[in-house]
Amino acid sequence: MISYPVSFVGLPIGNREDITRRALAVIEDADCVCCEDTRNTGRLLAHYGISKPLLSLHEHNERARCVEVAQRAAGGEKFAVVTDAGMPGVSDPGYRLVHELQKCGVDYTVLPGPCAVVTALVGSGLPCDAFYFGGFLPVKSGKRQRVLQNALQAGCTCIYYESPYRIAATLAELAALDPDARVCVARELTKLHETYHRGTAAELAADFAAHPHKGEMVLLINVAKTPRDEECN
Ligand code: SAM
Repeated sequence: MISYPVSFVGLPIGNREDITRRALAVIEDADCVCCEDTRNTGRLLAHYGISKPLLSLHEHNERARCVEVAQRAAGGEKFAVVTDAGMPGVSDPGYRLVHELQKCGVDYTVLPGPCAVVTALVGSGLPCDAFYFGGFLPVKSGKRQRVLQNALQAGCTCIYYESPYRIAATLAELAALDPDARVCVARELTKLHETYHRGTAAELAADFAAHPHKGEMVLLINVAKTPRDEECN
């Protein structure tokens, strides 16, 4: 196995079996694991029978920690970088550290792993040939409506992370803009209660208004019929 000073490692988004043999080997081989929450990651690693020194790297200490990790890696320590779930850097810390490593000339690699965006896209049944990922939807209604308006004109599948506390309001806003838009809410992916809610914006707005569904969710929107749709007919 080629060994890098720093390895970014994708972790499960719910189902602990979704981890590669290489991910476990790289974490086992590291001198230190950088993670968002040392308690969460400590528990997960214990499940795999791994015990490692943990170093917190989260949005509040990211700037200083990235400099520290790059310097220590340049000095010969090996790091595995993980987040609480999924791929580092995707709506999670990672981007800044990649830049710092590039700046310092420290070699790194990325181990592919679970990611809620791609899992939801494939399961949604909406076209996967072209897609746009917009991260978390804005919390403020005015900004969110502008983002939703753009999604309705994008001409490809648009994907957003959304809070279970706002999803009903977001679907209502979307239905007001275009009741016939094709929508999917992918909920609790890879977990016991994994569910894909599929339908028009109006149908899903009515469903979520009547039943306050809980859990982690991804919102997918597509209005345009694409050549891939024709292939499936
Ligand atoms: N880095 C992660 C990834 O690669 O998917 C995303 C981290 S972001 C802080 C967390 C958000 O991702 C959640 O609020 C939710 O929108 C989405 N998410 C994470 N796990 C999920 C799951 N099992 N099912 C549905 N959505 C999930």
